[in-house]
Amino acid sequence: MRCDVCGNDYDKPLLVEYQGRDYSFDCFECAIAKLAPSCGNCGIQVIGHGHEAGGDIYCCAHCAAQAGHPEMRDRI
Ligand SMILES: [Zn+2]
Ligand SMILES: [Zn+2]
Repeated sequence: MRCDVCGNDYDKPLLVEYQGRDYSFDCFECAIAKLAPSCGNCGIQVIGHGHEAGGDIYCCAHCAAQAGHPEMRDRI
């Protein structure tokens, strides 16, 4: 199977179904590059839960607050 990101042909691909589409990747790095949402404020790719506010996703509460969601807080 070929990786959807870098085109590497790998015999044990990661197969991911996401939002109704099938993807194949040779490594998590490529999967993240393709599928991870980016922060609505700073644009960094959000890996893990992130913070969702108003339909957008943010890497941290600080970014959510900067984008107009001051109710978001990092858990301590
Ligand atoms: Zn790849
Ligand atoms: Zn951010």
